[in-house]
Amino acid sequence: MPIGEWFKKENKRAPADQTLTKRAIPDGVWEKCLGCNEPIFIKELERNLMVCSKCDYHFPLSAYERIYHLADPNSFEELWEDLCSEDPLCFIGKKAYMDSLVEAKNKTGLNDAVICGRAGIGGRKVAIGVMDFRFIGGSMGSVVGEKITRMVELATDEKLPIITVSSSGGARMQEGMISLMQMAKTSTAVARHSKSGLPYISVLSHPTSGGVTASFSTLADIIIAEPKAFIGFAGPRVIEQTIKQKLPKDFQTAEFNLTHGMVDMIVNRLDMKRTIMRLLDYLEPSGVVE
Ligand SMILES: [Zn+2]
Repeated sequence: MPIGEWFKKENKRAPADQTLTKRAIPDGVWEKCLGCNEPIFIKELERNLMVCSKCDYHFPLSAYERIYHLADPNSFEELWEDLCSEDPLCFIGKKAYMDSLVEAKNKTGLNDAVICGRAGIGGRKVAIGVMDFRFIGGSMGSVVGEKITRMVELATDEKLPIITVSSSGGARMQEGMISLMQMAKTSTAVARHSKSGLPYISVLSHPTSGGVTASFSTLADIIIAEPKAFIGFAGPRVIEQTIKQKLPKDFQTAEFNLTHGMVDMIVNRLDMKRTIMRLLDYLEPSGVVE
């Protein structure tokens, strides 16, 4: 399935409601829930960290929104924000890679699909990396891999715990082999951090797949998923065609991954910060407190 279809698929899954046309909802006041199809007052949705109070559907968040919800006020210090992808293969697919980069930058105001830096969480200093799905499907190319690696290395040098929040369609194929190398690079950095005895908590949001699932995001000490998030490597259709078997209905959901040991906890976004604070207290009782 093309990366751009991820959220459209959610939309299709929602029950059709003939009485609620798009025109009946004034722009900017109401949002139609992709989970239960009910209209929600946007202010209420924002107060609820973009979680539907009727059906618990977790709307996607930008990287900065997530950092705003997780980090202590004014504690986030962004690093390496100027790093930009080159176009090493001069790749032209459906469109030129350079055009996709310019379009994504204009749409999001970001330079690539991850934001990294230092932050405080519950008064404890951490290194944090948060992905943004809006930037070419949160794909991991040279910049995402480099920023995650630098952030992990900084955490190792400064003896900080790591928090990452992933949302990704996988490796950025427009960068070919260079994007695939990021899996080994980030994994090696995480292994060195782990050998130093420092904690790493990874949050998987909808969707986390491909090369990000296959590298840093599932190498944490504690892996948390948001409810109903898609978590997998290849798409279900590709797997079915390969193994020639029908897959279980809830295959590759956060819940399925929890049952099968790939995920440690499923945590509602409203409880996420509190849960991370509690885990950090447990994993690193003598951590750096600001
Ligand atoms: Zn809903």
